[in-house]
Amino acid sequence: MGSSHSSIDVQANVQTVLENIERATMKAGRPKNSVRLVAVSKTVGVESIRQAMAAGVTDLGENKVQEASSKRPLLSEQHVAWHLIGALQKNKANRAAEIFDWIESLDDLELASKLQHACERLNKQMPVLVQVNVGREASKSGIAEEGAVEFVRRVSVCTHLQVRGLMAIPPYTENPEDARRYFIRLRETAQRIASHKLPHISMGELSMGMSHDYSAAIEEGATLVRVGTAIFGPRDNP
Ligand SMILES: *Cc1c(COP(=O)(O)O)cnc(C)c1O
Repeated sequence: MGSSHSSIDVQANVQTVLENIERATMKAGRPKNSVRLVAVSKTVGVESIRQAMAAGVTDLGENKVQEASSKRPLLSEQHVAWHLIGALQKNKANRAAEIFDWIESLDDLELASKLQHACERLNKQMPVLVQVNVGREASKSGIAEEGAVEFVRRVSVCTHLQVRGLMAIPPYTENPEDARRYFIRLRETAQRIASHKLPHISMGELSMGMSHDYSAAIEEGATLVRVGTAIFGPRDNP
């Protein structure tokens, strides 16, 4: 689960990120507390995660079911919401439904159906975000923008999945300003879906922005930012 980087001051980093979030929120003229920090703790050990929680982190992002599954019991003393932000294999849908509080990476109807059944058995309502491949990259997960309305329409019949919005991982750009157009595209896709007024569908959440571009993402409407490196330092194996 990665070595502990003793030179990294996790608490100070969380404070800095929270201040930057507040600054970007104000700059955008958005209400205070309209953006939530999801601290991306993949590969990070539980001691560092505890420090982040002590500094005010309330949401954790993990990209692997197995890893989250082994960490969650070790961090059960405090309440924290666990977000799945990575690709989910269908054979792990049951476990994912048990341990996650949010699924941010829904991009497959068969997977939606598996999660629906798992959540039904658990009698659990699962908030989900639909992942959109805004950069149209063959290597990336996510549905195509033009199929988004139809996809959400089909997920809307899953009574135990609450679609709350969209998530995207834009192509990496050196300059955060270059990511802005992708953030705008995600926001516009959400607006387009919302205009269809599908039953049980909300488009209130936009999960976009990572360590190097979360301020730009907030200016473009992010409500969830997923920040790893800026809190925990560089990962051994990304
Ligand atoms: C790893 C990861 C992040 C965090 O990236 P950083 O650049 O370390 O902030 C955000 N989102 C997803 C989906 C990730 O896999």
